[in-house]
Amino acid sequence: MTNFFTVQKKDKNSRARAGVIHTAHGDLQTPCLMTVGTKATVKTLTPADLKKIGVGCVLCNTYHLHLNPGEDLVARAGGLHKFMNWDGPMFTDSGGFQVFSMGHGTVSDEIKSRERRHSKSRVLEISESGVRFRSYLDGAEKILSPEISIQIQNKLGADMIAAFDECTPFHVDKNYTRNSMEMTHRWLDRCIFEHENLKSPTKLFGIIQGGIYPDLREIATDFVEKSNTPGICIGGSLGQNKSQMYDVVEMVMARISPEKPVHLLGIGDLDDLVRGVERGIDTFDCVTPTRNARHGLLFSSEFPDKKLRITNSEFRENFSPIDKNCDCEVCQNFTRAYVNYLFRANEYLGIRLATHHNVHFIQNFVRKMRESILTDQFEKFKTEWGF
Ligand SMILES: [Zn+2]
Repeated sequence: MTNFFTVQKKDKNSRARAGVIHTAHGDLQTPCLMTVGTKATVKTLTPADLKKIGVGCVLCNTYHLHLNPGEDLVARAGGLHKFMNWDGPMFTDSGGFQVFSMGHGTVSDEIKSRERRHSKSRVLEISESGVRFRSYLDGAEKILSPEISIQIQNKLGADMIAAFDECTPFHVDKNYTRNSMEMTHRWLDRCIFEHENLKSPTKLFGIIQGGIYPDLREIATDFVEKSNTPGICIGGSLGQNKSQMYDVVEMVMARISPEKPVHLLGIGDLDDLVRGVERGIDTFDCVTPTRNARHGLLFSSEFPDKKLRITNSEFRENFSPIDKNCDCEVCQNFTRAYVNYLFRANEYLGIRLATHHNVHFIQNFVRKMRESILTDQFEKFKTEWGF
């Protein structure tokens, strides 16, 4: 049996590494930013588009797919790969983040005091057995537990799945974070037990919680490592700002053994990818490239630290490509003026072109970062991009 994960090359000056995760649906080259297809679709792109762009892995969402169309329908369709016609590597999250974020609010909700998007959704009870909540679709009462999440994820049939954890929010105190982390550890044992019972070939990732507290992160790191899941995720509150987040990642990665792939949940801005990779992170997922695209915020190599707002009036008669250095089919064939017009006219193609460009841009960025590690040019890569 081949190893699940192979390290091909280690950077000399940092923990950055290039590797391969071997799955039943092909090899996944790392570092990798998984492309988020929350509801079994990367909005506006077909699997053929994703292949052309060079997307290595799609991440789908257990919470949303459980509510609609349901894991049983997906299983009858032959599993998620067949259902959405994506035959490459796939990851599903546990549903924990979604169910808890609607109960606790996310960091950005907390900072901006934004109203909850789904007014009907609500956490009714969090207990040792699991979480009772109301569906945002119809208000029906639902339960997610370690066992149920693992059962759902195995019916969906992704190559890599996540343990069910309590995603501790940003505002709670250390005591809450500790109790929550300890429950997450008991839940991890239950996830592993359930997963072994199902005799599934799917690879389970345990999740390191512990908030921003070094001693809790240490305990969580040791616990998850000892649990012997084939992969590890870093989750939960990573702090109020990027430097705190990098500190949390640093302390976890300094302690973790190098044999397993490590995934940083829900993070993936350009600077975060570089800072994560140099600390030893192998895979990431982030909704920002696709979500930003739908709001007309596009990547450009001219300003890696900010986005080009294509809807701005300055682009009305700008007949150059979105990014002159991008070799995606959008930048080869369309102008800023045309994409600006499509957005102003509310034409669907605008969102599709914007999404295609953003996904291509960031996949290309990660691919180049990987190549730079393989060729001992990681420092040069960082300098070139201003990171
Ligand atoms: Zn482009």
